[in-house]
Amino acid sequence: MIRSDLYINGEWVATPKRHPVYDPSDNSVIAEIAVAGDNEVDAALNAAANAFPSFAKMAPRARGEILRKAFEIMIAEADDLARLVSRENGKVFADAKGEILYAAEFFRWFSEEAVRINGEFRHAPSGDKRILVTHQPVGVSLLITPWNFPAAMATRKIGPAVAAGCTVIVKPAMETPLTTLAIADILHRAGLPAGVVNVITPTPASPAVTRLLADPRVKNLSFTGSTQVGKMLLKQAADRVIRTSMELGGNAPFIVLDDANIDDAVAGAMLAKLRNGGAACTAANRFYVSKKVAQEFVDKLTQAMSKIKMAPGLTEGAQLGASVSVKERDKIADLVANSVKQGGKVTLGGTKPEGAGAFYPPTVMIVSADNDILKEEIFGPVAVVVTVDSDEEAIKLANDTEYGLISYVYSGALDRAIRVSEAMESGMVAINRGVISDPAAPFGGYKESGLGREGGFDGVHEFLEKKYIGVTI
Ligand code: NAD
Repeated sequence: MIRSDLYINGEWVATPKRHPVYDPSDNSVIAEIAVAGDNEVDAALNAAANAFPSFAKMAPRARGEILRKAFEIMIAEADDLARLVSRENGKVFADAKGEILYAAEFFRWFSEEAVRINGEFRHAPSGDKRILVTHQPVGVSLLITPWNFPAAMATRKIGPAVAAGCTVIVKPAMETPLTTLAIADILHRAGLPAGVVNVITPTPASPAVTRLLADPRVKNLSFTGSTQVGKMLLKQAADRVIRTSMELGGNAPFIVLDDANIDDAVAGAMLAKLRNGGAACTAANRFYVSKKVAQEFVDKLTQAMSKIKMAPGLTEGAQLGASVSVKERDKIADLVANSVKQGGKVTLGGTKPEGAGAFYPPTVMIVSADNDILKEEIFGPVAVVVTVDSDEEAIKLANDTEYGLISYVYSGALDRAIRVSEAMESGMVAINRGVISDPAAPFGGYKESGLGREGGFDGVHEFLEKKYIGVTI
């Protein structure tokens, strides 16, 4: 059963106004979701605010057990959930299943973190008092998620919020709300008290988010999405000086040094580029490859990309599905077309297929370092290669961006790879690997890629206030 109503105060709430959710493989309508108006937005906020005092006091073990139970249900129902993700997002089943398993791990990780929130007890250096440091849930949090990982971006926020004792209002992307509603259903069945998690789907044009951010009961905003929207929301959050976590866009460099194992680098590039059809904030966007190995790398990457089977997400053996919408697909096509006008050479793909469905084929290009495509987050299966003369040039070009989420480095020498990693202006670096996202590791960016960290030991602290208590003993 596909949930398509709002989830407020532990109940499913239908509204007369509905909004279609499309399967981007063929533009068919999967479901009509309830659209939240002012009344539903207010009801969700009331529910979260009313549930907060008692949920904040619930034993951490009990909160952890609910998350653990939700993890178990997600794993048991992983195939069904993956099919839903694939249908509303367009990604292939294998990517969708990978996402569900990754998403479930956030519930497991934070079920374990719920009972490990440490404090401090210290002697003041002057000896006049003791310093106690404790943590308290920050309060009602607004969680806003993007369409590219509809399950994982939801659990990466809901998991730590619940572990910390916060109550939340989740606003998923309008393109992919069904997965978040399915996760709310799982949390409901796992025994989460009413009002702790509420899911609303206002239309993109509605002032719901502005309305929520203006309400003094909302204490925290956790946003994942584009840098452009993130900046706008940061400005709104500044009016009330509320806490914010921002997981924003990326423009990841993938550096291949002259001593790298090229077969490994190509295998890593395929993962870093094609996971999620390239629609990942962590997707390798710019390949800076040493001149000595560039030809071999491009030849082997072109060959590997040419074998990829592009088909609707649920087709047997499909490796590359549709983009989330024709609009998103056309953005990719325009970036490639402009790049070609500026001298970019296509070695594979580069043309939009005919027919319905938001497809764009695997594409490999060689461009010069000043090509405009290097400035944009491509969000599609397009690998853009630039040849470099030295490690220093690779580092300089890799850092020449306002983004700083993740970098990839391939080298046969660990000391060299670590030297380059330390020079990267990014929150994460993958050495000789195409994927490093892990619920147990801190995920987040430098520069305009964001503020704060999700996952790891930091994730729960995005939902906790630190309190210092000084006492004479
Ligand atoms: P987006 O910024 O368009 O939308 C993200 C969310 O914000 C959606 O829920 C959307 O409905 C909402 N939103 C959009 N405009 C809004 C407005 N004016 N007011 C309030 N809410 C608004 O991003 P997207 O296209 O859904 O996702 C792709 C982007 O997300 C990419 O830039 C990608 O890099 C980024 N992303 C980052 C991470 C990360 O962890 N750093 C992870 C996944 C995606």
